[in-house]
Amino acid sequence: MAELLFLKPVFKQTVWGGNRMRKDFAYYLPGENTGECWGVSAHPDGDCRIQSGTFRGKKLSELWREERQLFGNLDMEEFPILVKIIDAQDKLSIQVHPGNDYARKNENGAKGKEECWYILDCPQEAALVIGHQARSKEQLKRLIEAGEWEKLIRRVPIKKGDFIQINAGTMHAITAHVMLLETQQNSNLTYRIYDYGRKSRGKARKLHIEKGLEVMNVPESPIEGSIVHTQEFPENRLNQLILTEHYQVWEVKVSGEFTFARNVPFLVMTVVSGRGFLNGVFIRKGRHFILPWGFGRVKMCGAMQIIVSTV
Ligand code: ZN
Repeated sequence: MAELLFLKPVFKQTVWGGNRMRKDFAYYLPGENTGECWGVSAHPDGDCRIQSGTFRGKKLSELWREERQLFGNLDMEEFPILVKIIDAQDKLSIQVHPGNDYARKNENGAKGKEECWYILDCPQEAALVIGHQARSKEQLKRLIEAGEWEKLIRRVPIKKGDFIQINAGTMHAITAHVMLLETQQNSNLTYRIYDYGRKSRGKARKLHIEKGLEVMNVPESPIEGSIVHTQEFPENRLNQLILTEHYQVWEVKVSGEFTFARNVPFLVMTVVSGRGFLNGVFIRKGRHFILPWGFGRVKMCGAMQIIVSTV
């Protein structure tokens, strides 16, 4: 049986970050403004190392290059998925990501970014910014230039356990006191549209309004197609949350015992609550790991919830 690849997270300090992950996930945080935990990443801006076992100390990008059989010999230049936990102590800037085609042409061959969010915790009455209300590019441009943000943005109410897909070209922002798990394409390409006039070390962060306008979807598609309420999903089943050309994501609530097998190149997992065992290996809230190719039958027991993804 192939061994689990446990990853050591990389933490990021941000203007909007906090220190909640210390208590919630028992992480050793590098600072009081920790906004992001990159739990599974081979991106050069935060390349996770393997925590234990045969490949201990190796970076995920190295494994991808040198031990491709672990990932079913997938023919892709880079490890395709990036998983983060986000602690928004304050709101994040309003932003948009380009798709692959635009990024390839305009950002030196970079990858676009599509992402999705699983809400781990949020205040009552929380709402995220997902999309806008403009009917045309002209109206979009006019409202942005006039700073009429409240007229422009679409606010979507959320609850713990909601799942939201953010397509490339969809304007979005995480709001204050929301904690979520993000599964995304392996890319760090963001066009910041509005930052509430905030300053970081005395300086306003750079905006990218021109490019943002170029890639933004107008009109935005209805939200119903992008949100899934997982609260009532059955236990001991892989509940599919999304399937796109870049990733597929499931949610599973283990209660007692759950066994499954999947014929996929690899599976990325993050335990988002509880604890238990996976084929006899102890796992708990906050652990990120990969089940490599040929892992076979997966037997989980305990009381825990896991977000699972692959390409
Ligand atoms: Zn984003």
